[in-house]
Amino acid sequence: MTKATPTTRRCTRCKVEKPLDAFAGDRSRPLGKMYICRVCDGQRHAQRWHLQFWTPERLAERERHIAEVDARLRALGVEPPPRLAAA
Ligand SMILES: [Zn+2]
Repeated sequence: MTKATPTTRRCTRCKVEKPLDAFAGDRSRPLGKMYICRVCDGQRHAQRWHLQFWTPERLAERERHIAEVDARLRALGVEPPPRLAAA
């Protein structure tokens, strides 16, 4: 009997063993599939979207809004909490 073709693959990103259907096709790869599952691939795209979303204009707008809120808090005698810097 010949060796069966593997029907599952472990995603190199989330380390979860998944059926090959869970991996998007990529003809440049040996098995014709990507090394990371569709879920992880989707997250990668989401990250790229995040980078595209936070344009300098949007970041400036956000800074302006935060400064406004902080000024309002200070006017009330409240010290504004430290803000997380945008990634
Ligand atoms: Zn994965």
